Amino acid sequence: MNEETKAISAPEVNGVNDLTITVVYDNNPYKQGLETAWGFACLITGAEKTILFDTGGDGQILLNNMEKLAVEANSVELVVLSHIHGDHTGGLGSFLEKKPGVTIYLPKSFPIKFKQSMKGYGAKVIEVEQPLEICENVYSTGQLGILIKEQSLIVRTNKGLVVITGCAHPGIVKIVNTVKNLVKDDILLVMGGFHLEWATKGKVEKIISAFKKSNVRYVGPCHCTGDKARALFEKHFGKNYVKSGAGKVIRTADLE
Ligand SMILES: [Zn+2]
Ligand SMILES: [Zn+2]
Repeated sequence: MNEETKAISAPEVNGVNDLTITVVYDNNPYKQGLETAWGFACLITGAEKTILFDTGGDGQILLNNMEKLAVEANSVELVVLSHIHGDHTGGLGSFLEKKPGVTIYLPKSFPIKFKQSMKGYGAKVIEVEQPLEICENVYSTGQLGILIKEQSLIVRTNKGLVVITGCAHPGIVKIVNTVKNLVKDDILLVMGGFHLEWATKGKVEKIISAFKKSNVRYVGPCHCTGDKARALFEKHFGKNYVKSGAGKVIRTADLE
């Protein structure tokens, strides 16, 4: 076990009391008046820092949706990019024009050119390889996966862990298992893209039973999860299925 892993396993502070996750970019519609387009981004507030997780595929759509949701680009202190794909990083340039000096956490495997262009906006780039603490109660799983490296975000709340995934290319069950090994706490919610668009019913049901075995309490699959998989999650999680999409606001205070 390396030092970072040890630090994550022994948090000294209490979890975040009232965490809010606002989906500002998604291909699934949720709130009327917001634009939908392929990709994912969400704003995380209530922890020590205000965090934008991923940036969607199109900067204008991202900024328009943020405005409609009364989310100030200026309020964002940290950006966390899950992985290199354009539907998660495409909006970053436009965002940085609005808010140039942020700190960006990205998988170390990102191309050098990409990292350099971020620095051109005055952004501070932190390359993530191993699991690490991003700010109080907020952690990265570290970059996982083989072909497409991806990090997921973990927020420790007073009700358990919130896990946010971009596309879940390394495998959603692998991500959940990694989280369980990293932070010893119950998993309150897993949300984001689960990458199950083309998965068979059998595969999705296996994933659902792995979630149940891991005592995942709520699920909020969106982005690349696919309608069929989302319907299966809804069927098996019932009232603990959180319907998500562009404009959805999830407050942990509302979860039991
Ligand atoms: Zn992807
Ligand atoms: Zn994606």
